[in-house]
Amino acid sequence: MDESISNSRKNERDEDGDSSADEAVHSLRFKKKKTESGSALETGSDLVSKKAKGSGLYLDTIQRYMLDFDFEKVCSVSLSNLNVYACLVCGKYFQGRGKSSHAYFHSLHENHHVYINLHTLKVYVLPDSYEVTDASLDDIKYNLNPTFTPAQVAALDKVSTQSYDLNRKPYLPGFVGLNNVKANDYVNVVIQVLAHIPPIRDYFMLTNFDDKSELIKRFSTLEISNASSRKFKLTEQSDPLAFLSWFLNTLHRDLGGSKKKNSSIVYSTFQGELSIESQVIQPKTVKDAEAVFDSASAITGTKSPFLFLALELPPPPLFQEELEKNIIPQIPLITILSKYDGRTVQESVADLKRFQITRLPSYIILHIKRFSKNSFVEEKNPTIVTFPIKNLSMAEFVSNPETEKVLGLHYDLLANITHEGDPATPNSTSYKVHIQHRAKEQWYQIQDLFVEEINAHMIFLSESYIQVWERKSE
Ligand SMILES: [Zn+2]
Repeated sequence: MDESISNSRKNERDEDGDSSADEAVHSLRFKKKKTESGSALETGSDLVSKKAKGSGLYLDTIQRYMLDFDFEKVCSVSLSNLNVYACLVCGKYFQGRGKSSHAYFHSLHENHHVYINLHTLKVYVLPDSYEVTDASLDDIKYNLNPTFTPAQVAALDKVSTQSYDLNRKPYLPGFVGLNNVKANDYVNVVIQVLAHIPPIRDYFMLTNFDDKSELIKRFSTLEISNASSRKFKLTEQSDPLAFLSWFLNTLHRDLGGSKKKNSSIVYSTFQGELSIESQVIQPKTVKDAEAVFDSASAITGTKSPFLFLALELPPPPLFQEELEKNIIPQIPLITILSKYDGRTVQESVADLKRFQITRLPSYIILHIKRFSKNSFVEEKNPTIVTFPIKNLSMAEFVSNPETEKVLGLHYDLLANITHEGDPATPNSTSYKVHIQHRAKEQWYQIQDLFVEEINAHMIFLSESYIQVWERKSE
């Protein structure tokens, strides 16, 4: 993590003691929505059992509305992630509980006496340093480390009832916004998408990762910045496609995946296979003739696995006037997918290529190539892609439809990441994502912390950039 972020967070926490300061936390776990400052003063410690009150355990001093365990679990003074406790009175994190520790000093200076170890979930009273066990602390422990049974995870797609956080604020499980530190909306949209792909979500909610990398355990901001050698920062807008690609490949590697198919949850979910035929470009007999394969010359064929399918848009109108008149070009998704029909020829500098899908994945990630760099300026193709929300047929794009039909040739839209704004002025751009709640059959638009219902017919009016489609069983 950038030093500046750590410091600014620390300052915000120090100044107002409010743990809802702009802070991003990325976890595939279904986190509860942030506490909003000032909204929950009427709650507080009223959940503490009467028995514990006045017993010298200080449990009546706990202020639940100050607690937010979505923060990076590091000491607010030393920034260390070792042996960190949360003060259950003000919510701040401190290292250690020994006589020279930051938690110990905090207990003396602030008269805050109850602390939970963020790793062991044990609760202690400081400075006396004795452990407290009381059933009234269970809700705090659960929020610190939510655990799920397979039945609970399965219910996420079937139940549409609201849940409640520590402040009794309602939220829809799975539809909780993520904070934007500065410019990490490109990360947020990707995390939202991955959290709604059932095999990925279920795997990460139900598997114990104690022996895996920190990135896998936490999907955290610190780890994204560190693990990517600062390629992806939270303070700089970046490309969600580049981030998704890096993230999936890193997860695959850290989970022990190999080049073999199905060797990780990433490959078994997203990996398909293409056949690629290529031919060296022959001198054209007719100028400007359409590029075609020459049946008399050699054709090279290879098979290539893929995690994404890239789709080209037709060139946008040349004249700015046309765009200004709001004549935004549209093209059906099925038309740009014809790149993979095994007949359409793609021309590059040296050769001709044609593509066909030889194995469909359970989830297809489509990358609509909107962005290009022209003389140092990033340009965006504003063409709108139209598509059906359900039942997209891939039959035309597979080499062996009869074989693929067994597992299914049709797909439903699962997620749609869109881009807004002019890429030449990065501060004005934003990414949003559309995701459907399966039980409610309601689509939501999510932008950082903002989650709102959206009419399914409005989805294709946005500039789609990345889509995830889910295979349907026939
Ligand atoms: Zn405190």
